[in-house]
Amino acid sequence: MSKRRTPGQEAVEKKGWLRANTWLLLRRLSQLGILGMFLLGPLAGLWLIKGTLSASTAFGFLPLTDPLTVAQSLAAGHVPEAAVLVGMLVVLAVYTVIGGRMYCAWVCPINLLTDIATWLNRRLEIKGNLNLSRSLRYWLLGMIIISAAVTGSIIWEWFNPVTMVQRGLLFSMGFGWLLAAEIFILDAFVLRHGWCGHLCPVGAAYSLLGFTAALRVKAARRERCTDCTDCFAVCPEPQVIRPALKGSSDVILSHNCLNCGRCIDVCPQEVFVFSKRA
Ligand code: SF4
Ligand code: SF4
Repeated sequence: MSKRRTPGQEAVEKKGWLRANTWLLLRRLSQLGILGMFLLGPLAGLWLIKGTLSASTAFGFLPLTDPLTVAQSLAAGHVPEAAVLVGMLVVLAVYTVIGGRMYCAWVCPINLLTDIATWLNRRLEIKGNLNLSRSLRYWLLGMIIISAAVTGSIIWEWFNPVTMVQRGLLFSMGFGWLLAAEIFILDAFVLRHGWCGHLCPVGAAYSLLGFTAALRVKAARRERCTDCTDCFAVCPEPQVIRPALKGSSDVILSHNCLNCGRCIDVCPQEVFVFSKRA
């Protein structure tokens, strides 16, 4: 009996390892580079970025603020200071052009963890029988805003794994370890893409910036598709691919596409490319 090929294997054979992993390598470079820039301050006294992914200042002058943090602050009845609002506008401007969920694939440190968990999940061929709706994350997002309004404080930041893990790395792990372990167990053993694809309200908030994004993945050579399903197997949001392969537009228009480029990497027929919205 012939052994089933793993997703991406055919692409490696046809295009070579480097071309079958280009976007993955670039993403790792981006994720580790950004984390490294945050770490250089406390570890080496070189403050390229000060703060956390919730609110920071880059290169001593550029404020960057997570829009969800500002939304909670406003819901809680606190108007942030001008620099924080400017930081939010900078972030909004960038992500409405490149796609909100690029944050998830190219910046968020949790993605490193969930990618390892997904790899393990696939290796162990764990299907899992938990059936969660992918819209649950939007309900959680709504609850976070409501709880800020009711309590008058940014209560989510006490539990936000993105900043907890980052703070943990910067200032010693603490509670962040526990959250990281829970997310890893969820994704590896209970539900594939459980955190990023179903629960994370931070990703849900960034996805709302993806409706108008100019940068898109396009199935530019979709007539070449052999239905091998490798792109579906590696995509963290596989439901976004089919319309571009079989529908009226060959552009992936879903606000949930992470622009991670993994489908471009693993397609042996080189169907996908990064493109601008038509
Ligand atoms: S469609 Fe491609 S770029 Fe978009 S999330 Fe899936 S693998 Fe990543
Ligand atoms: S686009 Fe078609 S050929 Fe390419 S990875 Fe997806 S299913 Fe396979």
